[in-house]
Formats: sequence, C-alpha cells, structure tokens
Amino acid sequence: MVEQLKNLNDIYSKEDYIENMFFTQRRPIISYEVFPPKNDQNGDKLNNLIQELTVLKKYNPSLVSVTYGAGGSNREQSVDIIQRIKDELKLNPMPHFTCVSCSEKDIKDYLTNIERLGIKNILALRGDIPDGEFCRDFLHASELVEFIKDGHDLSVAVAGYPETHNESCSFEDDIKWLKYKVDKGADVIYTQLFFDNNKYFSFVEVCADEGINVPIIPGILPVTNYNQLLKMTSLCKVTIPKVFIDKLEKHKDDRDYTRKLGIDFASYQCRQLIDAGVKGLHFYTLNKSDAVCEILENIL
Ligand code: FAD
Repeated sequence: MVEQLKNLNDIYSKEDYIENMFFTQRRPIISYEVFPPKNDQNGDKLNNLIQELTVLKKYNPSLVSVTYGAGGSNREQSVDIIQRIKDELKLNPMPHFTCVSCSEKDIKDYLTNIERLGIKNILALRGDIPDGEFCRDFLHASELVEFIKDGHDLSVAVAGYPETHNESCSFEDDIKWLKYKVDKGADVIYTQLFFDNNKYFSFVEVCADEGINVPIIPGILPVTNYNQLLKMTSLCKVTIPKVFIDKLEKHKDDRDYTRKLGIDFASYQCRQLIDAGVKGLHFYTLNKSDAVCEILENIL
C-alpha cells in the first residue's frame, strides 16, 4: 500500500525550491498522464506501461492521472491500472472520469468503487457528446463536480482550455463555465496541451481577473512524431508556433531530428513556465518515459 495518498490541495500547497549558486526558484510539482493501452488481451502493454512509470518514478511525481475511455469503454482496465499504480508503484493515481451518457447510479457506483480503493483525487470531465441517443442525467462537468463534492471525500480536478474548448462560442463564455466548475468545488485545473506559452499566460491572467483562484497546471506534450502531433491537434484548438511547425514539417521524415526538436522545444517551454512560477507541470506521456525523462533532466 502507498503510505499516504495525498489530495490535490495538499499536493499543490507544497512549496519546494530548486537552488543553485545563481538563483532560487520554486520546483514545480510533477505529474503524468497515461492511458489504458488498447488491444491488450494478454496484459503485455500494461506491463510495459508499469515499466515506463517505474522509470518516471525517479522524478518524484505527485500524481499519475489515468484517462477514461469515452462512455466508460475501458472502465475495468482503468481501475486495474489505478490499482497497480497505487499498490505496485506506490504512486498516487488520479482517475479521469467522464459523466456524459452515464446514469446517476453508474456514477455513484464508480465513485464508491474508487473510494474503496483509497483514491483521493479525480479529474471530473463531461467527455465528448456521443452520436445518437444517450443518457442525459449529467450534461456538463460542473454537474459532476457538484455531485462528487456533495457526497464523496474526493479532491476534484477539472479541464481548462487556454485556447478555448472547441464547442465554445467565445473565450469569455468558456471562462465563465470554467469559473462555474470552480464555484461548484473544483480544486485544481489541468489544461489542454498547448505550445504557445503566451496563450497559457493570458488564460491564467483572465482566470485570475474572473476570480478563479485554484492552481492552473499546464499540460505539456513532448512532440516526438510529426504525424502524431497533427492527429492529436486536429481534435482540439491548439496553436503551434510557426517556427516550430515549420521545422517539424521540413524534417518530418527524420525521426531523430523531430524527437530532438520536440524535446528541446518542450524543455524551453517548461523552463519559461517555471520562471513564471507555475505550481506544477503535467506531462502527456503517451505511455512512454524517454522523452519526458530527457525534458526533466534538462529542466530540474
Ligand atoms: P465541460 O466543462 O462540461 O465543458 C464542455 C463545453 O460546454 C465547453 O465548451 C464549456 O464552455 C461548455 N459548458 C460547460 N458548462 C456549461 C453549462 N452549464 N452550460 C452551457 N455550456 C457549458 N476526454 C475523455 O473522454 N477521457 C479523458 O480521460 C479525458 N481527459 C482529459 C484531460 C484533460 C486535462 C483535458 C483538457 C481534456 C480531457 N478530455 C478527456 C477531453 C474532454 O472530455 C473534452 O474536451 C470534452 O469535450 C469536454 O469536457 P469538459 O469536462 O471540459 O466539459
């Protein structure tokens, strides 16, 4: 068993400093996102994921978040992973959970189940609206946040979008609903991946102006593959700085170059975020340790 799983408020209230002969700086809280592997009948991919996390453990992550398949498609597998992260790796897992198309009973059962495992934190999401008919008990993440806070002893994180959610009619409207999630009890915001730090800084500033006063943890994607980047960013609104995308495009068939460029870019991005005083860095690991390790070696 993990000695003591911490909730989000305890994690992000921690002040830890990096010192060297020139400066003293706050050390960001490190966290990772992983996903349950697909087509893994014999469990090999899950064993590989546990190996990758074993490597990443040396950077003392405070959390490992585990994504949730649309409509609960991988619910059992994600519970297995959560349990292994906690019991084998002795790390603090944070399951994601999407409420759209779930009944109230479904949600209650899931929450009871993870609480029984000793889980302290959950990332509460709406999820993408499915095609066709679906259960409409919960239509927004804010309703899930309220439901969790009303009867469960869990710290709640929510999603935030520095470049706005793709269904939103405006940046202001999206911030209004983000504030609503926080008013309903969200403790921390994890952002959508982004590559332009200025978008994140403006977002944080507007959130503060609107009275959103919980930590806003930037989501960092180490780019190692050009086509994968295009695929991932086609699903959400994300600006890729011209100088970065031009170089990636030009060298798209050179995997080593792309990987090095992606790691250098993410390291630069993280350094700038640390200098600006972010409380944490949340890495979209894509279930691989090597690129994240190189970035952390560069910045810590
Ligand atoms: P909401 O907060 O409900 O917002 C959705 C849209 O509705 C926004 O445009 C918002 O402005 C608007 N809105 C919110 N509340 C209201 C209201 N009361 N009235 C009117 N409009 C409102 N997806 C998965 O399937 N599995 C995952 O594990 C997963 N993990 C994620 C992790 C992170 C960090 C992020 C950023 C996203 C993740 N997603 C995941 C994607 C997410 O499910 C989608 O972006 C989804 O479309 C919106 O979810 P949400 O929780 O942001 O929704």
